[in-house]
Amino acid sequence: MRQMRCQPYERFDKFYEGEEFADALFTELVPWGKDQTFTGLTHGTPKGAHTPHGWGFLEHHEGFMQACSVWLDGVADGPGMWASTMNGVEQCGYGTWVQGKRHGYFALVKEGGTYIEEYETGELKRRIKWRKDKLHTKCSRCGMLFVPLANTAEEKFCRYHISKPDYDGRYPCCGALHAVNPRGCATSMHVEPLPDPPKGRRGGGRVSVFSFLDALCVLVPACFVSAMGCKGARNP
Ligand SMILES: [Zn+2]
Ligand SMILES: [Zn+2]
Repeated sequence: MRQMRCQPYERFDKFYEGEEFADALFTELVPWGKDQTFTGLTHGTPKGAHTPHGWGFLEHHEGFMQACSVWLDGVADGPGMWASTMNGVEQCGYGTWVQGKRHGYFALVKEGGTYIEEYETGELKRRIKWRKDKLHTKCSRCGMLFVPLANTAEEKFCRYHISKPDYDGRYPCCGALHAVNPRGCATSMHVEPLPDPPKGRRGGGRVSVFSFLDALCVLVPACFVSAMGCKGARNP
């Protein structure tokens, strides 16, 4: 599924230069819904001075995020993805929202498997196991599932606290209580877990041969994907 290998949107896509988004401006971490913030393009509507309108992502402090390529007056209305670590369960999904509701096919990733779900205006109609998930890895910092290929500096979806909570359960970095905002005050790219150190062999030529092969393995799919093009993810 191509959506998994790309960022959910490109901020500077011509699409957002259209008349529809002429008055939309970039805002960061504006409140949108209970215990939620929005980062992306917003404009003023009767619903609020910073109503999501354009690209952007919604974050709940308990560990849920939804990134959508098109928000219209606060409502997700286009392709995007979501990820959650709520209740200690890591899962994520890719698909399209129509007027704020999941509609059509979604890919759900959890417990090492990929499932295909079919929704009808927000209602789950069926879910079938598709195949093993080999694309995602778990961020060693925030615990969200992510695809390393899509983890680029253009969008930083990793949220975390710079320091550990102190004995009062308060984070020294931002002063938030762990009980109130366990997710974090800083954003960056997700962090891949460290690979297991090679056993038995130390130094020598072998290591460099392996890293060369590793580099090839990373480069080949990356080139393949860029040749396929991530543009147009908005209109799959
Ligand atoms: Zn992360
Ligand atoms: Zn903090």
